Amino acid sequence: MYDPKSARAEEFISHDEMRETVEYARRMKDDLAAVDRILEKAREQKGLTHREASVLLACDDGEKTREIFSLAYQIKQEFYGNRIVLFAPLYLSNYCVNGCLYCPYHYGSGMARKKLTQEEIYAETAALQDMGHKRLAIESGEDPVNNPIEYILESLGTIYSVKHKNGAIRRANVNIAATTVENYRKLRDAGIGTYILFQETYDKPGYEHLHPKGPKHNYAYHTEAMDRAMDGGIDDVGLGVLFGLENYAREFAGLLMHAEHLEAVHGVGPHTISVPRVKPAQGVDPDSFEGGISDELFEKIAACIRIAVPYTGMIISTRESQKVRERMLRAGVSQISGASRTSVGGYAEGGGVNDAAPDDDTRQFEVSDTRTLDEVIQWLIDAGYVPSFCTACYREGRTGDRFMALCKSKQILNCCHPNALMTLKEYLVDYASAPTREAGERLIERELDQIPKEKIRELARKNLLDIENGLRDFRL
Ligand code: SAM
Repeated sequence: MYDPKSARAEEFISHDEMRETVEYARRMKDDLAAVDRILEKAREQKGLTHREASVLLACDDGEKTREIFSLAYQIKQEFYGNRIVLFAPLYLSNYCVNGCLYCPYHYGSGMARKKLTQEEIYAETAALQDMGHKRLAIESGEDPVNNPIEYILESLGTIYSVKHKNGAIRRANVNIAATTVENYRKLRDAGIGTYILFQETYDKPGYEHLHPKGPKHNYAYHTEAMDRAMDGGIDDVGLGVLFGLENYAREFAGLLMHAEHLEAVHGVGPHTISVPRVKPAQGVDPDSFEGGISDELFEKIAACIRIAVPYTGMIISTRESQKVRERMLRAGVSQISGASRTSVGGYAEGGGVNDAAPDDDTRQFEVSDTRTLDEVIQWLIDAGYVPSFCTACYREGRTGDRFMALCKSKQILNCCHPNALMTLKEYLVDYASAPTREAGERLIERELDQIPKEKIRELARKNLLDIENGLRDFRL
């Protein structure tokens, strides 16, 4: 039985409800008056239920689809403005005991195994800081012997300790396998940002088939992980579906049901939703899965997520090409990775993003957007976005419902906007190429005028000058 308040995965992600939602959406999609009523409700910017959002996703009327995209764009502008937050993944270890069929890290895949030492983590972090990154997502395979929680905690300590030149990692999000409340508490105490765990698929039989062995085989344990994380005191959790595996419409409904469950039980929805798509990797052919989706559909899924959960950040990685990322930004994405390496030790080693050392290819999947961080920043600026390295909310304790309250109050122009401009300024002064710096300085001048409160505008101006003169790390 479907019950968003239940603690049991099979009840808050009820398969009957997922199936019925897809059928309901199919029945309703051509009822344009009903679609209009849903769009009317969406314009209130308080979100939609999984059923309502599923109707929008299913609706293939040209005019209504245009309305969906334009509303998604408008909501993104109102809650997140034109700021795009940047981060990079840092792969610690590809030792893994699971059997995920889509991931080359799976046990017995024949892939070269590597686990970074603390010295290597130091070097990776310094290399990331030298690019200009301030925010990381820590990635690791699941292996209780090689990558126990103590290893992750020690690595977090190393990452936060590195202060290379003017660099610092100010927020480390963590993407590791589902674990216990006790371990989540340890991660919280180590000062992680968001705990990210992709569901991969909400379809239980599909999930069990795709994860034939290892601890990840347990659907309920994996699906209930966010509840344990929140019980362990982690305020910000990040959901995600690996699109391309199973039926997208059911996944979309499941994802929103998961968000509704977190809101119903913990009083706060997911901090972020990631939308990865399965990509070619060593021994992995995305076409071998049944759930492949076109770029157009992918973009519409993002727009419908933006409308359904207006306050939730949305993340797109370098799995996608520049072109797809451009479209996803318009559809409502608010965070992107840049200059990512998906191999263990890929940053300090140098070389091209997709280069494979002949005897040590530890890369998880191929990256489509292979540009440098400077190129990504320049591209964002040229497209009218403000690249942001801001980590202020997390560091000021504005996590969970406190972040949501800020977002809902639309005070972001007085808070997030100056913070974004100040972190961009740091990037421009410390790391940017001359053309990027020039474009960025012009952008900052223009964007300062967008700050409504004069006092805050003046404070931002003063801080920008201080950054120019060598001071760092201002935040509101
Ligand atoms: N080991 C952790 C777990 O079990 O959730 C997460 C770390 S894993 C490095 C991060 C994510 O990469 C996975 O959750 C999966 O969605 C994604 N991934 C794995 N193989 C992929 C592929 N071939 N293409 C795109 N994404 C992939």
